[in-house]
Amino acid sequence: MKLLEGKTLSKEILDSLESRIEKVKAALNRPPSLSIINYYDDSPSAIYVKIKMKVCARLGIKTTLINPGEDKGYPYFLKLLKSMEEDSSIDAIMIERPLPPGYEDMKTWDNFGIAKDVDALSSLNMGKLFIAKSMDEIEKGNFFVPCTALAVIKMIKKYSIDVKGLNIAVAGRSSIVGRPLAHMLTSMDATVTLCHSKTKDIVSIFKKSDMVISAVGKARWIKADMVGENAVLIDVGTNIDENGKMCGDIDFEDVKDKVDSITPVPGGVGPVTLACLLEGVVRAAENNLK
Ligand code: NAP
Repeated sequence: MKLLEGKTLSKEILDSLESRIEKVKAALNRPPSLSIINYYDDSPSAIYVKIKMKVCARLGIKTTLINPGEDKGYPYFLKLLKSMEEDSSIDAIMIERPLPPGYEDMKTWDNFGIAKDVDALSSLNMGKLFIAKSMDEIEKGNFFVPCTALAVIKMIKKYSIDVKGLNIAVAGRSSIVGRPLAHMLTSMDATVTLCHSKTKDIVSIFKKSDMVISAVGKARWIKADMVGENAVLIDVGTNIDENGKMCGDIDFEDVKDKVDSITPVPGGVGPVTLACLLEGVVRAAENNLK
């Protein structure tokens, strides 16, 4: 079994940002800046916010964390977003989920401009992604794509896995992972089956697939008897098990002697996602220079 670890790739991406950050600092007379909106201090995303801020501090990217307060209501959220978009000292905006009930509707994403939306939540960034026909067009177009989906593609490329003609099962159809990922893989000529909670006989789909990617959020639910021999497994899930330990959607110990290769959790897709996000922040700052 080959371990598809993500720390090396993450470091490569982050190292490549150092000189770009210095150039931005020199030209703007300030560091690149990321503002993060997080409504719930005790949500799972709060842990990742802390990690993001720590890595940003190490690289010389300024971060600001805002909890607008649920009691202020939806109009306040839209006003805040608009004022942050107009604030020229902010290069990038990250909106952490979950948002308060009812905030995640089309109006929110239509109101979010394209320039600072580094995780591609806005309707326009998402639309551009789905209009693009090839991965080349996606990578060269100066718009943002969901960082986790992009991280998976970068891992696949890093390990020189040619997905052309492969049958790939993607479990999870969220707008930040499964759907954009399925589109990107299709644009790389893979044949993708996008699975979800209502998919019938998911095991037979997994077993027939050359690659299985899980972005479901269910601790160690994929076992060895659910996947084919020599499958490539990519684990996007980040879960906390009953012992408080971080684990993926795939039962690593159970599958490891059966499959061709697998990404670990932690240390797989997660660090690459963070690196992709920070690359987006630097790119947003560079766009400001133009
Ligand atoms: P989400 O919005 O909750 O979506 C979960 C998806 O899983 C839904 O499409 C759901 O189907 C599907 N699902 C649920 N149970 C299923 C089952 N038994 N079989 C097949 N599909 C099932 O989650 P998300 O935000 O995409 O995140 C998914 C996981 O990725 C989480 O563990 C999250 O923490 C992790 N994540 C990791 C990173 C990273 O950098 N590594 C980044 C983002 C997210 P329905 O649509 O039918 O409900």
